[in-house]
Amino acid sequence: MSDWISMLEEAWIMVTWGSPLALLLTVILGASLGSFANVVIWRLPRGQSLVKPASRCPACSRPIPPWHNIPILSFMLLRGQAACCGAPISARYPIIELISALILGTLYWAEGWSWVFLFTGAWMILLLILAVIDLEFYRLPNPLVAAGAVISLLWMIVAPQQGWLSAAAGFGTGLGFAGLMMLVGKAKTGRLAGFGDLKLAAVLGFTFGPGRFVLLMLTAALSALVWGLIQRRRGSERRIPMGPFFALGAWVVIWLGETMVRWYLGLFMLGH
Ligand SMILES: [Zn+2]
Repeated sequence: MSDWISMLEEAWIMVTWGSPLALLLTVILGASLGSFANVVIWRLPRGQSLVKPASRCPACSRPIPPWHNIPILSFMLLRGQAACCGAPISARYPIIELISALILGTLYWAEGWSWVFLFTGAWMILLLILAVIDLEFYRLPNPLVAAGAVISLLWMIVAPQQGWLSAAAGFGTGLGFAGLMMLVGKAKTGRLAGFGDLKLAAVLGFTFGPGRFVLLMLTAALSALVWGLIQRRRGSERRIPMGPFFALGAWVVIWLGETMVRWYLGLFMLGH
């Protein structure tokens, strides 16, 4: 009996971690979620429903049949042109599908199918959506930040990575950092802006806890600073959207944070 159980356990581990078929399924799931991310990025800032109508060509509004709507592949098969009217399809669509597939594929490789995979994956795809919308529209829509808060609350309830005190301290750290950035911005430009950044920073602080959030924020602030200097050299005076840099910071924390923990555990085990 116990042999059967251990065999089942081994089979489960093989499927959930290190199975090529599961990896393929995960990558397909990632590309499909990327396709949905494209829908959210297009429709949400324009106030359109996310579920209906079904996909339409942005150029001629004719419905897109499902076989022309396969993530990544359709773009390549159609050579970047809409089948209905020949209008060029933005390369942004397959790029976002590819990034999303890479996010889930690499997460599966690192974590297997697990709670960390589920919640981290959800957050990274959400941040991808927020980053692209912020780049284009200079805002972080409230429903998306709220979705992030729901993901993190579920994470804390189902499979907590930290205690509630740490989450609360992270929330406060996020508010403090972003509030400081708003005040600096007001001193420079004379107007108070960045409430979207404030809300997202608070939720990210809650999600990652104060220690990892500071690493996230430093990465975001430094890379935004470099980006701002490049933009200024090009003569642009536009405000820097923080969304993409928060996403970059979270990405660094998720990967580097994990690597650092493993490195630390490795040292610990070598000592014995
Ligand atoms: Zn068309």
